Amino acid sequence: MTHRASRCSTEVSASRARAALETPENYCYVNAKDSGVFMKEKFEACEGGCACGHVRYQVISEPMIVHCCHCSWCQRQNGSAFAVNALLEADRVQLLAGDVENLEMASPSGNGQTIARCPHCRVAVWSNYYMGGLKDRIRFVRVGSLDNPDLMPPDVHIFTSNKQAWVVLPPTDQSTEKFYDPLATWSAESLKRLDVLEAAAGIEKSWKNLWR
Ligand SMILES: [Zn+2]
Ligand SMILES: [Zn+2]
Repeated sequence: MTHRASRCSTEVSASRARAALETPENYCYVNAKDSGVFMKEKFEACEGGCACGHVRYQVISEPMIVHCCHCSWCQRQNGSAFAVNALLEADRVQLLAGDVENLEMASPSGNGQTIARCPHCRVAVWSNYYMGGLKDRIRFVRVGSLDNPDLMPPDVHIFTSNKQAWVVLPPTDQSTEKFYDPLATWSAESLKRLDVLEAAAGIEKSWKNLWR
């Protein structure tokens, strides 16, 4: 998808993560030295956590997609102008230390959202949306909780109809007033990963087809 993996340099200590990194799906194409030559390179796990240090987690592969959501719900829940969420299979976002408290919240779809927060400082580290029934099989990592949030810039800006007026988007970024068509927005590789997740969940009506 992007060159973000090449900038991920956190050392990984957990043997579990190392084993997972050796699986082929954790390779991604990167833009070598911005030369325009795309090479296949291993994704290096990167870490994140809450503000007090109780919760530490690691992300062991490239996100399927990164949303920058400008909807009014995200603005209120974050007390900010937008939310940046990296979507990954739940088992690719692994808790290294601490525990999370799951809080149910309403969402615009009516299906709700579960937000995982540190039980001490209450900072949110990820959430799960219903997403066609995937729910706790997918994690929306709060990119700002990564040690290096620069690793996961947005692939697409969504719900820009609610965007605060002072937020000026880069003209080259993908953006949509409401939501997008996943078939036209996700990479082929990420769509395949979605298929694997949905098959494991026994979902017959794929989420990717609900937006056409
Ligand atoms: Zn904390
Ligand atoms: Zn939102």
